[in-house]
Parts: sequence; C-alpha cells; structure tokens
Amino acid sequence: NSPLHIVGAGLAGSEAAWQAAERGARVVLHEMRPERQTQAHKTGGFAELVCSNSFRSDDFETNAVGLLHEEMRRAGSLIMDAAARHKLPAGGALAVDRDAFSAEVTERLRAHPNVEIASGEVDALPPAGWGPTIIATGPLTSPALSASIIAATGEDALSFFDAIAPIVLFDSIDMDVAWMQSRYDKPGPGGTGKDYINCPLDRDQYEALIDALLAAEKTSFKEWEKTPYFEGCLPIEVMAERGRDTLRFGPMKPVGLMDARTGKQPWAVVQLRQDNALGTLWNMVGFQTKLKHGEQSRVFRMIPGLENAVFARLGGLHRNTFLNSPKVLDGALRLKAAPHVRFAGQVTGVEGYVESAAIGLLAGRFAAAELVGRDPLPPPQTTALGALLTHITGGHLSDTIESGAKSFQPMNVNFGLFPPLAEPQKKVRGEAKGAARKKALSKRALVELDLWLETDMVSARGGHAA
Ligand code: FAD
Repeated sequence: NSPLHIVGAGLAGSEAAWQAAERGARVVLHEMRPERQTQAHKTGGFAELVCSNSFRSDDFETNAVGLLHEEMRRAGSLIMDAAARHKLPAGGALAVDRDAFSAEVTERLRAHPNVEIASGEVDALPPAGWGPTIIATGPLTSPALSASIIAATGEDALSFFDAIAPIVLFDSIDMDVAWMQSRYDKPGPGGTGKDYINCPLDRDQYEALIDALLAAEKTSFKEWEKTPYFEGCLPIEVMAERGRDTLRFGPMKPVGLMDARTGKQPWAVVQLRQDNALGTLWNMVGFQTKLKHGEQSRVFRMIPGLENAVFARLGGLHRNTFLNSPKVLDGALRLKAAPHVRFAGQVTGVEGYVESAAIGLLAGRFAAAELVGRDPLPPPQTTALGALLTHITGGHLSDTIESGAKSFQPMNVNFGLFPPLAEPQKKVRGEAKGAARKKALSKRALVELDLWLETDMVSARGGHAA
C-alpha cells in the first residue's frame, strides 16, 4: 500500500506523522531544515518552537487551550507527551525546555518503525501519483511551495505580521528591584507560585514608557503595510497607540502581584517568563514588537530592573501565510481542488503551537483512516478539537460559506467556538464570572471526546460502537 507523505516536520507535521504511524500507516516525513531554514527557525530539530516556550494555560476546566491539551493527551499526542516530559515551572501555564522538547519529538519519530525521514524542500504541491499527502509547512511555507498552492487553489494566500518578544539574560536583571511571583501566587504544574520575574512601574515610569514606545522608531515593511495584525499578538507599541491605559489592562496589568518591598500593588508590571531549563533566559511576556533593534534596547532599559538588561534575542516581525480554508478545504481538511492533498497546522488558519499540533493530530488520523478504506470521523464540535476544525473548515456554516470565507481570520481556540449549552449555568459563589459555563462546556467536551475516541477505535477494528 502507498505511503502517506507529510511535508513539514513542525508542530503539526510531527503530530500528524505520529498519529498516522501509530495507526499502522507507512509515513514519509519531508523536512527542508537544516539545509534550508525559514526566517524564524534556527535548528534542524522537529517541532522547533520559534518564539515563546509556552503552550499557554494547562487548566482544562476553565480554559479552552488547557482543554485542548487534555483532549490531545487522551488522543495519544506525541507533542503533549514530549511537553509533559520537558516542562518547566511557569505558574498555571505549560512551558517547556525548547531544545529538550524538540530533541524528544525528533528522536521518537526517527525511531518509529513506520516513519521514514526525507530531507529536502518539497517545492510544489505533489501530483496525485504521489498518493495521499499532508502539507504542514506552517506560516513560513517556502516561497516555491506557496506559489504552487496559490496556483492550485486560485486563491491568494493571505499574510500578516506576527511580532516576537525579546529574551533577557537572567544575570542582567536587577533582582533588588524585580521579584519572583506568579499572579495571585498560583502555582502551576510543577511550579512554586513564584514562577515569573516581575518588574514594577510607578505611574510616572509607566507614562514615560508609553511616551517612549509611541515616539520610538519602528521597522517598516512597505510590502506588508496593508496587512492586518492578528489581535492575539499585537505589537506592544500598537497596543500603546490604542490608548494610554491599554497596556496597564493588558500585558502590564498589576493585579495579583504585590511588591513586598513597598507592600503595594504597583501601577503596572512587566513580567518575564523562564525560557530555558537552566533559568538563564527570560522572555518578556506580551512584549512582541516591531521597534527597531537599537530602539528596543533603549526603551526596554527604561523598565525598572532592566536598566542593564542584556538581550539574548530582540523582538522582530515575521510573515504568516494561511489559506482561506473555509473556501478551499473540505470538512476533513482535504483540498477541494486536489483531494489527495490535506493541509494541517498554522497554514490552515489556526493560531498557536497547540492549535497547529491539534490540526496535525486530526489530519494524521483522517489520512490513516482513508488509507485502510475508512471514512475519516471528525470529532464533534462540542469538543475543543471539533470546535477548531469547524472554525477552519466552516463545517456548520455550509449555507453561509461565502460570508464565512470572506471574514476568515486565524484564531486561537476559545470557548466562543463551542456550541452553547442547552441550559444557562448559575454563577457559583466565589467563582469568577463565566467559570460555571466554562466548566460545563469542558465537562461536556471531555465526555463527547471519550465517545468519539471509542467510536473511532471500534470502527478502526472494523466493528460497531455499542
Ligand atoms: P511549523 O512549526 O513552522 O512547521 C513547518 C515546517 O515545515 C518547518 O519545519 C519548515 O521548515 C517546514 N517547511 C516549510 N516549507 C517546506 C517545504 N516546502 N518543504 C519541506 N519542509 C518545509 N505560536 C505560539 O503558540 N506561540 C508563539 O510564541 C508563537 N510565535 C510565533 C513566532 C513567529 C515568528 C511565527 C512565524 C509564528 C509564531 N507562532 C507562535 C505561531 C505558530 O504556532 C507557530 O508558527 C507553529 O510553529 C506553527 O506550527 P506548524 O506545524 O503549522 O508550522
């Protein structure tokens, strides 16, 4: 039987390869790095994390991405397993040692008896003669392949700015000014409640920082000027332009943080999150930026505690390429114009490491089912996996697909993508607003996920679910 070709060994391609191989498919996994790098990758390792080392919240009861983690774990995800083995303390978030994580994914796939690795760029959409293929080449899909995708779909691939945050050397942070604390002292998995470095700003310091951000020189990329920003990843200076208090209610919010030296909550706080196992590198949370490099060093050294900061990496701007998926893909991620080709990962218009891997997980399972003559079984929309899939393929919007396609924008998983509950949930005393609803949505999702996994397993064995 013909093998499944997977192009791109990033978050999505690695997960797709694992899922398909575990279901008995023969997989050829194509990767162009290290011979040919993208604008953001640095290594030849699979599933390289190009910016933050965080998979975001791991709370599966009240957070949609935490729920996606849990669903992926239950579905036997390689990415989630490798993350668990190499996690770092990060409050309520799941953060990983990026090098150890990538090495684990690479070794597990190289060692899998059903996986063959093919080095080199795939520079065009493969012809039907190749057999089933998954394209998981990410937001930085190589230009030749992008051109071939545009030719096949007749759609211009859209692109927009993604801005990355600076990383600071621990030794250069003044810990007489900054202090370690997680918001509300909340210890995350393996954490202590003191997982973040916090730099306090008083009102004058905050106002001066806003003035500097507004006045600083920005990088301009004329070619992409008309491209809209993605709301979840706005550059810090763009947030500052929206209003003087936007940052104080966004990434610089001080709530749940107490400066023990003053006994007060500061006016604003810059948080840094651990970026490597050694604890030598710290990432400025939410400080993605398109300021010029010289300006970044000058402006960010105005932050108390960072006066002598040494930057291991400054922030930057990157291109993001994604398909108009509701229009060009079917409900099982196949390209309508060439159904032997599936797409997975960020290129389908999901946003984020976890979401990209999640779509890889589905694409791998769908392709493996087809290889043994079964119809792919999509997860219900009440699950986080199903909600994401529906967002990108427009499933339930079939009668309004045109309007869905026109307004299509990449998105992180969120509870807004889930069908509403039959009954409104009463607020429980002492709980945050909306917590009861989120808990009920998560509970429903996990029940339906387990049913889906069971049905899929039974049908793979050629039987019928009870
Ligand atoms: P990737 O992980 O990029 O994998 C694609 C793979 O395909 C790469 O290994 C690439 O080398 C390979 N490839 C490309 N073209 C070809 C070809 N023609 N032939 C063979 N191989 C090819 N998400 C977050 O959750 N947190 C972040 O902090 C974050 N920061 C980001 C910063 C930047 C600069 C960018 C661009 C994106 C960021 N994202 C972030 C978004 C997204 O989650 C990541 O890009 C994620 O890696 C996407 O996963 P993927 O598998 O779709 O693509």
